[in-house]
Amino acid sequence: MSKVKVGVIGVGHLGSLHSKMYAEIDAAEFIGVFDVNEEKRNEVAAKYKVKPFSSLEELLEKIDAVSIATVTTTHHKVAQQVLHAGKHVLIEKPITSTLEEADELITLAQKKNVVIQVGHIERFNPAIISLESYQLKPMFIESHRLAQFNPRGTDVAVVLDLMIHDIDIILSLVNSPVKQIDANGVAVVSDTPDIANARLQFENGCVANVTASRISRNKMRKMRMFQSNAYIAIDFQQGSADVFRLGNEGEGSIWSTMLLGQIGEGKKKRSIIYEQPEIKKINALKYELESFLKSVQTGSRPVVNGEDGRLALQVAQQIMSKIQVQKFNV
Ligand code: NAD
Repeated sequence: MSKVKVGVIGVGHLGSLHSKMYAEIDAAEFIGVFDVNEEKRNEVAAKYKVKPFSSLEELLEKIDAVSIATVTTTHHKVAQQVLHAGKHVLIEKPITSTLEEADELITLAQKKNVVIQVGHIERFNPAIISLESYQLKPMFIESHRLAQFNPRGTDVAVVLDLMIHDIDIILSLVNSPVKQIDANGVAVVSDTPDIANARLQFENGCVANVTASRISRNKMRKMRMFQSNAYIAIDFQQGSADVFRLGNEGEGSIWSTMLLGQIGEGKKKRSIIYEQPEIKKINALKYELESFLKSVQTGSRPVVNGEDGRLALQVAQQIMSKIQVQKFNV
């Protein structure tokens, strides 16, 4: 299969990481970068021995696909230009600042018959990948994503910056419409909520209690899920998962599992089994970009397409509006 000619637009913190990965990926022919900041684009281009383009139009003439890693408020304008040029695009999360902007991009991509993938990188976290063989049907989810303060990303509320990662994962796992949202949040150091908590109720009965903070002392990215036959704990930061599940009587004797006990009587005896799923040594960003290029090459559905990105944004905005209402009621 021929290589995909790629570029990166916006080479700040995350765009320089995209550049590093494209320079390593076999399926990519890394052509060049564009950033409105000349010093940045020259620096990153020199590092990866590609061309620093001084205009977006020039870059678009030379590539088949791009990553957009500019600040969120510019995603729509930049992506519009990319899609009008008929190029495939991976847009960093969140897809755009508004739903109208997201809708416009999705329609444009359909018209031009090109791929939109959204950079919800946790879908490619080794911990999530390790759970692929399990039948996940969570009915209660508790997640915590806590970060130390960093002015980068404070152009949007913590819900759009950090919580949206967990919102996307939860929506992909629960696979049921959201019925009700309750939320609370406080703007402590910036003008938008820096800490937020949301309770999502789904039509299938699942409840997710989601907390995100960017003013915490220590980092934490954990999710715990409970379903009828199992408890699953995911650590996104460590890239690890623990599974405690009910198995049939006698199960749990092989080396990879640990029998914690038996419950039940007579015919209904069950084993309580602890397992640590095998974790593949993968770089989530590299895996995400490889997956994007595969969709470009084969026309397959991206793991996180424009509609998925839009849905995560919609729920994030609903959470934001609940927090807003509360603020006005104080
Ligand atoms: P950053 O400020 O470090 O970098 C943004 C870069 O974009 C800057 O170099 C800036 O000069 C450039 N830029 C701004 N407007 C531009 C335009 N119109 N055209 C070309 N270049 C432009 O920001 P960052 O932390 O790298 O975040 C970038 C995006 O990545 C944001 O949308 C953010 O939400 C997302 N992000 C995603 C993750 C993740 O885990 N997936 C993590 C961090 C950031």
